[in-house]
Amino acid sequence: MLDCRKIIHIDMDAFYASVEQRDAPELIGQAVIVGGKPRGRGVVAACSYEARKFGVHSAMPSAEAYRRCPQAIFIRPRFEAYQAVSQQIQRIFLEYTDVVEPLSLDEAYLDVTNTTLMGGSALRIAQDIRRVILQRTQLVASAGISYNKFLAKIASDIDKPNGCRCILPSEGPAFVRELPVKRFHGIGKATEARMHALGIETGEDLRKWTLEELQREFGKSAHYYYHVSRGVDERPVRVERTRKSIGNERTFGENLSSHAQMLEVITGLSDQLMDKLESRSFVASTLNLKLRYADFTTLTRAHKVQRGVFTKETAKRTLPFLLQRALSVPPQRGLPHVRLLGVSFSGLTPADEDRPEQLDMPFNDP
Ligand SMILES: [Mg+2]
Repeated sequence: MLDCRKIIHIDMDAFYASVEQRDAPELIGQAVIVGGKPRGRGVVAACSYEARKFGVHSAMPSAEAYRRCPQAIFIRPRFEAYQAVSQQIQRIFLEYTDVVEPLSLDEAYLDVTNTTLMGGSALRIAQDIRRVILQRTQLVASAGISYNKFLAKIASDIDKPNGCRCILPSEGPAFVRELPVKRFHGIGKATEARMHALGIETGEDLRKWTLEELQREFGKSAHYYYHVSRGVDERPVRVERTRKSIGNERTFGENLSSHAQMLEVITGLSDQLMDKLESRSFVASTLNLKLRYADFTTLTRAHKVQRGVFTKETAKRTLPFLLQRALSVPPQRGLPHVRLLGVSFSGLTPADEDRPEQLDMPFNDP
């Protein structure tokens, strides 16, 4: 049977800003902008609904946001707090189904086709998830329910904030027919502009094109456009295999620009993690470095040892190269000031597992 699945898309409302308002009640009802400084060169990472009324939105330069909404309260993001909530909501999802695909810290697809809870009603499950999220995190989530990912994601956005919308299989095709292409998930600004130039404004317009015609214009993506414009999307909800890793990161009060300081921080983090691994009798084959610039551009670089595992020494020799590689990509806006550094080890295996002798590996990365 085609497309009789039950998919829920859960999306927290104004996530970062809502966490800030929760943790500092004096911010409730205020225009809150997370990320950037009013006169700085950063960008808005998130903003409260009160700020959105003034035309502020995420990814907008903070100077522009300040111009539109000078009374806004600018707040430095606390990713640790957002991460903690993210873990809480992921745990809630798993109480309803094993088939969960996280899209970001505050968003996920759930396939509840085979869930018997709540009489198997996807709508009731979605309502219950929203209730439990509110109860445990004091935060509001919106939900979209439909028979595929494309429609579930669009549905969660319709009645935001605090929305819960279902698009039934009988309603799907008619719903997409009227939908402007800019609301299609997966159609970015550039594609939207090309579609407009071709006279394609809505799902209905898209449906007038044959698959071959769309392929000529849009190549590989044509298949997706062709099908979703008919309300069809067979992409499965993909369960990410939980990768075994251990990591730690630091956000700086004052952004760093000195290589020596950065190196000191990541070496410290790496040493701590190695101690932790050793105390748990684990070894790691991959070292990952994460770097976030003041404009929130985030980069990760990894090195996997081909044979053997990392030691404190090999990690110490690897980190300067990873840092160099990360810093070779400058931020999109502003100066190359670093606001966060993180180190993690993955490819973990028990230290006593039968594997090659721990080698002091020669390190050949450029
Ligand atoms: Mg969200």
